[in-house]
Amino acid sequence: MTEKKLPLDSNELKAFALKVGTPFHIYDGRAIRRNAEDMKAAFSWAEGFINYFAVKALPNIAILRLLASLGFGADCSSLPELFLAREAGFSPERTMFSSNDTPDEEFLEAYRIGAIINLDDETHISDVIRVCGSLPETISFRYNPGHERTGNAIIGNPVEAKYGVTHAQLFRCYETARDKGVKHFYLHTMVASNELNEDYIVETARMLFTLVNEIWEKTGIRIEQIDLGGGIGIPYREEDTAISFNHLSDRIHALYEEMLPPVLRPLRLSFECGRCITGPYGWLIAKVLHVAEKYKTYAGLDASMADLMRPAIYGAYHHITVLGKESKRADHLYDVTGSLCENNDKFAVDRALPELEKGDIIAIHDTGAHGHSMGFNYNAKLRHAEYLIEDDGIYRIRRSETYEDYVRTLLSTPERV
Ligand SMILES: *Cc1c(COP(=O)(O)O)cnc(C)c1O
Repeated sequence: MTEKKLPLDSNELKAFALKVGTPFHIYDGRAIRRNAEDMKAAFSWAEGFINYFAVKALPNIAILRLLASLGFGADCSSLPELFLAREAGFSPERTMFSSNDTPDEEFLEAYRIGAIINLDDETHISDVIRVCGSLPETISFRYNPGHERTGNAIIGNPVEAKYGVTHAQLFRCYETARDKGVKHFYLHTMVASNELNEDYIVETARMLFTLVNEIWEKTGIRIEQIDLGGGIGIPYREEDTAISFNHLSDRIHALYEEMLPPVLRPLRLSFECGRCITGPYGWLIAKVLHVAEKYKTYAGLDASMADLMRPAIYGAYHHITVLGKESKRADHLYDVTGSLCENNDKFAVDRALPELEKGDIIAIHDTGAHGHSMGFNYNAKLRHAEYLIEDDGIYRIRRSETYEDYVRTLLSTPERV
């Protein structure tokens, strides 16, 4: 069970919402910091442990700076994410460039700044050499276990997944890289997303420890770092239970001791988690604009799936609290909707809530990862602001988009090309 909390007292949050205007995202910097420190502490037995925060989860420079200052790394998958990571102060060796279907100029920039390049395919070896002149001194390969693992709901079955090199290709990849002058070898995989079953993450560690042994036996190449990817889930539902960093770490530690011979130690351990770092510490705050009785009862918000896409695209559950009505009985059923011209623009379907009225302020929980960042501009919806709560007050860390921002790339005088 997980108690759904707000970052501020309910009345205080409501007053803040009325003051600054809805919708907006608000993040609890104090809680993010505590959580990040907890993860680091849990894995302190693993020398050089690092979590490369997946920038796509929450690409706000203020949050990235906060994580950089705690010794986290950044996991980037595009050129703009690399720029953001650099701007936020992540050093190149703490920046992972985990790409997929990568354009030449992205390889070049990742190489130029000295980020760790995580290759997704055997043919990318020659792409990097062609574009950059050589391979970097450190290289990582992304492994796809195929039939060996079953995958989970969001990421799918590995055999059907576009990511990573196969078991047979992996050994060749490392040998080719060694022959082309690479000195340091990392191994990466990402087989789960939003996974709350700890066993699954532990099995991923076992799979990588096995592979590190196999690579050593077959090629004489010693892997220096394994990256278990992201994918640690969060308890979106009250009945879910969070994964404990301490418990997970103890189990991985035991496997490390059992499976790694001295010649393969030390082996550094890393993750690329985004969701479990910031997810539970973000809220989308919105106002009820209309309550409409049709064949069902609809509560229409001033936010839409352009502000939070997860419920509409995966049917994802996000808990909802009506500010100031926490003590009232949740005895009314609503479809909680946005205003897009799309019938799947719903934050919740048949959700039991206290009776809603126009003007109520609601908090949609657990939107601190893959929330604002998945937003878009359909129906010319303007992107909303983001706020960060710190010990000494609340900071605006992204202003709302304006009409002028939105039309900035339009050419009122068409350019002949
Ligand atoms: C999306 C992604 C992550 C982060 O996933 P979370 O679910 O936020 O932990 C990490 N690594 C890669 C390669 C990804 O694609």
